[in-house]
Amino acid sequence: MAERTIVIIKPDGVKRGESVVRQIKQRYLEAGMRIIQEIDLQLDRHQIREFYKEHEGRSFFEDLVSAMTIGPCLVLVIEGEEAVEKVRAINGATDPAKAAPGTIRYDFRDAESGGPRNIVHGSNSSIAASREFLILVE
Ligand code: AMP
Repeated sequence: MAERTIVIIKPDGVKRGESVVRQIKQRYLEAGMRIIQEIDLQLDRHQIREFYKEHEGRSFFEDLVSAMTIGPCLVLVIEGEEAVEKVRAINGATDPAKAAPGTIRYDFRDAESGGPRNIVHGSNSSIAASREFLILVE
């Protein structure tokens, strides 16, 4: 069934430059999905606290808030069959050092990658994607 998911190319991904951003987008397109909306955003700390509410209190939470607000990010609304799971597989494991070669988080990691700095966000369900979209565009 076609569904929508949200990818955020995080500030540490955007910072890598246009070529990397283009290559990241290409991975989703090559898997047969469509990018139906792209939004350049500078997120604020309040938004990210809400966005990642479930992680509040975790040891990495403040670093996560900083990592998401340190510069501009690019939000992609992606649509396709099984888009949530496909995007998560393409993104790879949360920790870039543990992600498999061929995934975005592994292939585009750099010396600063690690912890919350893992280049991309992917929603973990289509319901989460709807909630996230509202927080991002509010
Ligand atoms: P998730 O809700 O699992 O998609 O995680 C959201 C974001 O929180 C991830 O993209 C990471 O940036 C960060 N994160 C999640 N778990 C950890 C962890 N154990 N250590 C550091 N950062 C994490």
